[in-house]
Amino acid sequence: MPRRIIIAGNWKMNKNIGESIELASSIKRSLYDVEEVEIVVCPPFTSLSDVNEITMETNIKLGAQDCYWEKEGAFTGEISAPMLKSIGCEYCIIGHSERRQFFGETNETVNKKLKVLLKEGIKPIVCVGEKLEERKSGKTFDVVKDHVMNSLAGISKEEMLRTVVAYEPVWAIGTGVNATKEQAQEVHKYIRTLLVQMHGEEVARSVRIQYGGSVKPENIKELISQEDVDGALVGGASLKADSFVQLVKNCL
Ligand code: PEP
Repeated sequence: MPRRIIIAGNWKMNKNIGESIELASSIKRSLYDVEEVEIVVCPPFTSLSDVNEITMETNIKLGAQDCYWEKEGAFTGEISAPMLKSIGCEYCIIGHSERRQFFGETNETVNKKLKVLLKEGIKPIVCVGEKLEERKSGKTFDVVKDHVMNSLAGISKEEMLRTVVAYEPVWAIGTGVNATKEQAQEVHKYIRTLLVQMHGEEVARSVRIQYGGSVKPENIKELISQEDVDGALVGGASLKADSFVQLVKNCL
């Protein structure tokens, strides 16, 4: 079965409730009839409930930007996977480079989150990717291998099929400098070979690998024209309805 393109908007720490409602409503109005592309919006925790009211029972899926790995208890400030489930989340981003960089996220914590999300029936979007120094010193494949093998360790084939991998070179995030289509394809293909080693050909062929890093309406087409690029995780360009809508339409 061909892999369905998935475009996910990561709103990061942007949009209060009013702004979230406005953005989600515009996206719904413009994209309500799109079936070929899977569309996900990931607002901040505080807006999930209100955005869910708008996206519920539509083709727009709701995602969170992180979660904690325990189900409940004395973990002040954290949000659990069952809480996300109860609020309507179908997806959850984990291992984003901003969380790795500023909040001490590691492959081990990503792996714990991955397992709890899968148990809860939420689809994880697992981010991996090298920093600029790592690319410059020829370590891209080593870093990506470390992220993929360790963040995605210890899950079944069936669980891997419910997981999305997002290749996000850190040097391309929020910089306006996207990876070229060749650079993206090279790493996506490598990730797929790692998935073959972990879960065999059939699973690896079905898992979706998104690209993330300065994706815009202008460059999405050439990125998804690559054999192993199955969509995008979008930051900046997901914050305005016009650019997010155009980006999705350019995938059709
Ligand atoms: C991101 O943070 O996941 C991202 C890809 O951001 P941007 O599109 O702004 O580079």
